[in-house]
Amino acid sequence: MGTDCLFCRIVAGEIPATIVRETATTLAFRDIGPKAPVHVLVIPKEHYADVATLAQGDPALAGEVLATAAAVAEDEGLLGDGFRLMFNTGTHGGQEVFHVHAHVLGGAPLGPMLARNPA
Ligand code: AMP
Ligand code: ZN
Repeated sequence: MGTDCLFCRIVAGEIPATIVRETATTLAFRDIGPKAPVHVLVIPKEHYADVATLAQGDPALAGEVLATAAAVAEDEGLLGDGFRLMFNTGTHGGQEVFHVHAHVLGGAPLGPMLARNPA
């Protein structure tokens, strides 16, 4: 995908990010606009547009993203009180960056899963 993709550019080191964990295949960095006391994004280094494409194209890599997310949750001290792991997907999911990313959210009660119930 390369230079058109914001998160590929973070992987390439072209855009700065606060990296909290890195493996051979995944990267975790702090969200630039945190929605909770802990808000970390976990991505595969390889470009996949969304979690469905990733899970269907490379289920093992999807598992590595989950494993990195769990390690981040542990590092951030979230395992005791819990946390939320979220993949916004597509238009209805509110996805803004089309390089798959898991949001690791925690550090305080996060409230209801959705801001409002659908009509
Ligand atoms: P989503 O709506 O699930 O696509 O989430 C995209 C997330 O990326 C948002 O929470 C943004 O705050 C975050 N974000 C956008 N640009 C950056 C950046 N340069 N570094 C870190 N996080 C970013
Ligand atoms: Zn990308």
